Amino acid sequence: MLIVMKSGATDDDIARVVEVVESLGMKAHPMPGANRTAIGITGNTTAIDSSPFADLTGVAECVRVTKPYKLVSRELRPDKSVITVGDATIGGDEFAIIAGVCAVESREQTMSTARVVAEQGCKFFRGGAFKPRTSPYAFQGLAEEGLKILRDVREEFGLMIVSEAIDEPALDLVEKYADVIQIGTRNMQNFSLLRRAGQARKPVLLKRGMASTIEEFLLAAEYIMSEGNYNVILCERGVRTFANHTRFTLDLSLIPAVQRISHLPIIVDPSHSTGTREKVIPLSRAGAAVGADGLLVDVHPHPEQALCDGPQALLFDMFKEMVGEVRAIAKIVRS
Ligand code: PEP
Ligand code: MN
Repeated sequence: MLIVMKSGATDDDIARVVEVVESLGMKAHPMPGANRTAIGITGNTTAIDSSPFADLTGVAECVRVTKPYKLVSRELRPDKSVITVGDATIGGDEFAIIAGVCAVESREQTMSTARVVAEQGCKFFRGGAFKPRTSPYAFQGLAEEGLKILRDVREEFGLMIVSEAIDEPALDLVEKYADVIQIGTRNMQNFSLLRRAGQARKPVLLKRGMASTIEEFLLAAEYIMSEGNYNVILCERGVRTFANHTRFTLDLSLIPAVQRISHLPIIVDPSHSTGTREKVIPLSRAGAAVGADGLLVDVHPHPEQALCDGPQALLFDMFKEMVGEVRAIAKIVRS
């Protein structure tokens, strides 16, 4: 159920509704909007009776939610969510470019890439310290040492750090050092990890499972939000198809489909989806054109020496070209 408050409802009115919801053993999720606050209710095992709320001061209506997802939906929050990270935003007026190394390999590799990302006026830096690798023999990341390098990137360049947590112990560390916690495609349905991310007090970048439907994707975001963390950024990173000209098939149709249902921002990853740098610029352009809120892109000073995902990493010059192009496209689409 969703309780829609009147536009003039006071903080006390909202607090009273929350109190009544909690006294019934359920959880209340107030979502302030431009014109009104809506309060989502979770934790019920059967249909909720609206009578305890209907007559409370400030309540406009009690709406039964028919979809399996509640907190992610536009029914709860008609306006788009804008996620604020330091002085940067995702989902607002600015097109967010989250760029950086696939894996933090060394201080030099990370710092030189961060310098280029900052020089282009981007506000976010990505870098994996914990890498989910298909082979157990492949480079697994520098762990806490890598996170310390990322912390130094923020110190030096003022970039907001996005880094992946592959399990609960990693999440504790990523939450400590980074600004945004990334949950990768392979963990999209790791429900205990999603709940832990929901308890974190930092925004979460949730990548779509490589074979997930839109419903599964949104319900994964719902897991995070149901724990009280409403700062979720969705990311389309390609799905597995029969196509063998690309690593995964970037499903750009997901962007408008999600935007119709959900208030959450959604970005596009042209790097992990295509797997080859020649395709990254065209699909970055496409991501901006389709109305995504931003991009997640791999860059590397020497891709041929990269310990992870070298073939998809943009060279510095390609990255600069890409930034100029997508900004021009995003400006048209978003004006
Ligand atoms: C990544 O962004 O580094 C990554 C591993 O991506 P994905 O989870 O989409 O494969
Ligand atoms: Mn990668």
